[in-house]
Amino acid sequence: MDPKKKIDRIDTALAALGPHAEECALCPRECRVNRRSGETGVCQSPDRAGLARALLHHGEEPVLSGPGGRVRGSGTLFFTGCNLKCLFCQNYQISWLGQGRLVDDEELARTMIALQDRGAVNINLVSPTHLVLPILRALKIAYGRGLFLPLVYNSNGYEKVEVLERLAGIVDIYLPDLKYRSGGLSERCSGAADYFGFAGPALQEMYVQQPDFILDGDGLAARGTIVRHLVLPGQVEDSIAVLEWLAETFPPSLPLSLMSQYRPCFRAPADLGRPIEAAEYRAVLQKARELGFEQLFVQPDLFGPGENLNPDFDLDQPFRWKT
Ligand code: SF4
Repeated sequence: MDPKKKIDRIDTALAALGPHAEECALCPRECRVNRRSGETGVCQSPDRAGLARALLHHGEEPVLSGPGGRVRGSGTLFFTGCNLKCLFCQNYQISWLGQGRLVDDEELARTMIALQDRGAVNINLVSPTHLVLPILRALKIAYGRGLFLPLVYNSNGYEKVEVLERLAGIVDIYLPDLKYRSGGLSERCSGAADYFGFAGPALQEMYVQQPDFILDGDGLAARGTIVRHLVLPGQVEDSIAVLEWLAETFPPSLPLSLMSQYRPCFRAPADLGRPIEAAEYRAVLQKARELGFEQLFVQPDLFGPGENLNPDFDLDQPFRWKT
């Protein structure tokens, strides 16, 4: 979309969502804190963005990072804090422990432009839900200065439809997780018994806004909705329930990314204290094929010993890609 039209949409979104800065109900947690005055809720974030890292990401799906993961990369912004906070989070250093630096809107906009100047193929907002206001303010600046890359909204799925509706015409690619179907599991792992009750309608709204998965001439996503699901150890049944709901709700052309990379991190519950087994991933993948998903992104069904995709944000280069 023409950046000028995006700026108009951003102005409208900021007018509608702005009051949340002083009584925040931007996400299902509905903490109602005054973030402008420095109060924080579950996401532990004031009304400025905490930025943990901005980098060219070579490990996203090939349509987002570039074919082979070697070309240019996804211009990824890792934000501090999170509104969901899974106990097993692989990004716990930033989502739970607060690593990162508060930046103002101007610096955030400059960071987006800098990623574009370095050859990024998109701007990829990781965990943007709780920071939608500073992100929108920064995008307004960045679009005014020539940002033109597709915008990826890389979300845990724990979203409110009325907030997402304000992002129509601004977000080009929705990249939501659908983590759990069971309320018991989502309560135990993320303190959110209502996860599916919010994530389901949120995914439907995203798909209404971006139903068509469009690739450009280089095989890179230009628009669309890609759903991610991380298979958890011992939870094949819940994964299958997630897939069945997706298959009932969306057409088979819905792109689905099935992830096997789970490693227990941080405060993972005891029964989730191991990687998944190859057989578990194969069972979920087999079900996805039976259900007829036409566009599947897959990972290896087994990672070798010591081989994992978990980042370490204590390092200058948190990921270990062989670029
Ligand atoms: S965005 Fe943060 S402060 Fe606002 S409702 Fe969600 S968790 Fe609470």
